Amino acid sequence: MDRADVVVVGAGYAGLCAARALRASGRDVVVLEAGDRVGGRTLTARVGDGWAVDLGGQWISGAHTSFAALAEEYGAATYTPPTGADLLVEGVVRRPFTGARPPLPTLVLVVLGQAMWRLERMAARVDLARPWTTPGADRLDSMTAATWLRRNLPERRARHLAEVMIGEELCVDVGSISMLGLLTTIRSAGGVDAGITAETVTRLFVDGADGPALAMGEELGQALRLGAAVTSIRQQGDGVRVGGAFGDVHAEHVIVAVPPAIAGRIAYDPPLPAARDQLTQRVPMGSVLKSFAVYERPFWRDDGLTGQSLNLHDPVPVTFDATRPGGPGVLGALVPGRAAQRLAALPASDRRAMIVGSLVRAFGHAARNPIEWHEKVWADDPYARGGYGAYFPPGVLTTVGSALRQPVGAIHWAGSETATEWSGYIEGAIRSGERAAAEVLAVHRSVTAA
Ligand SMILES: Cc1cc2nc3c(=O)[nH]c(=O)nc-3n(C[C@H](O)[C@H](O)[C@H](O)COP(=O)(O)OP(=O)(O)OC[C@H]3O[C@@H](n4cnc5c(N)ncnc54)[C@H](O)[C@@H]3O)c2cc1C
Repeated sequence: MDRADVVVVGAGYAGLCAARALRASGRDVVVLEAGDRVGGRTLTARVGDGWAVDLGGQWISGAHTSFAALAEEYGAATYTPPTGADLLVEGVVRRPFTGARPPLPTLVLVVLGQAMWRLERMAARVDLARPWTTPGADRLDSMTAATWLRRNLPERRARHLAEVMIGEELCVDVGSISMLGLLTTIRSAGGVDAGITAETVTRLFVDGADGPALAMGEELGQALRLGAAVTSIRQQGDGVRVGGAFGDVHAEHVIVAVPPAIAGRIAYDPPLPAARDQLTQRVPMGSVLKSFAVYERPFWRDDGLTGQSLNLHDPVPVTFDATRPGGPGVLGALVPGRAAQRLAALPASDRRAMIVGSLVRAFGHAARNPIEWHEKVWADDPYARGGYGAYFPPGVLTTVGSALRQPVGAIHWAGSETATEWSGYIEGAIRSGERAAAEVLAVHRSVTAA
């Protein structure tokens, strides 16, 4: 049987950063990855003669300091897409605008601003390490975000805009997420204003956001096993046995660096405590579909447009420019939540026709005939089961939320979903991996000292 000090399950950013930190401290690590590649929910596809587009995570903001440090260390270059005007599209009406505020009537913007101010204040009260201790936690966790918005944002257009923005941020319908879950997510991204600012100053990776992950995978060499789906974790007196079709690896600790809904598919012996097991049953993944339409050149820039559009009555609420400097024109589309679920059920050709229809409504007939098409329905990926990340439905955080990061014997939990800051982002994944590695090292140090 293989042996290591620590086994890491999953070679997304969380698992890779956990392994890297442990190896830097002299620990012997084996990383078991179910797929045939590293990077998890970051995934680069190639368009034209080799230009990158990101089918998964792609944006890095100025607040993502750990990701930026990693990118610099591995020489992963970033760029900022050209500035210009974004579009607000409502049916057949398209209105260009610059800045963070879309061109809506003053009343709509004022009531929206008031609601955002209230959200900001409420989110500031959330203790990220223990959201269930937030003042009024039980009440906030017993209602959905949709209920709060209906009560606090009666103006229809303002509410619709808030629903679209939240849906796009979390890939979930506001009727499915707990209000406490929403506030925790907002706080995790630094608050409403900081979150919006971070979103407006983002960069893309010239050669794909999985670049540093691929480099970390290379560094692991023989310590990385691809095609090694973990199906069982057995804790015994002398450590853990992490098993699958590949055999068993024996270790002192295991770090499970996958989302809760995926961790719940592993068989544990002895069974997990009830709270942890319930958590894995009750924290589902969001739904998202991401597509790229490739054109000879970024024609929308001729009209001073950024390629970024906010579409208020459309299955595709957000488009963006993914053109690499010097590469062919690329328009990306994000379809979150219910729309993603509906489109995922369609034949691929119908799905493509619907998304291209949205691009044409925003950018005109030049968008009608892309020369290449790429898409990924994340719910179809058996090792992601959705995206961008998991969300908390009502009644979860205040009941079993404390099991999210709590180690179970020699089992430690990582993954972006376990991060306190930037949960759901690549930044959160990196920080969670480093936190889990520190946890293991601390236990090891205390055992050695005893
Ligand atoms: C469409 C989309 C767009 C996004 N956009 C952004 C963005 O712009 N910016 C941003 O910061 N974040 C974004 N995200 C979120 C970001 O990609 C994730 O938060 C982050 O990559 C998660 O990393 P992770 O290591 O926690 O988990 P994952 O990346 O999911 O890694 C888990 C790994 O475990 C493996 N695995 C699963 N089950 C097993 C098993 N049983 N045995 C062994 N291995 C297993 C998986 O194959 C995977 O490689 C986006 C995500 C999606 C899907």
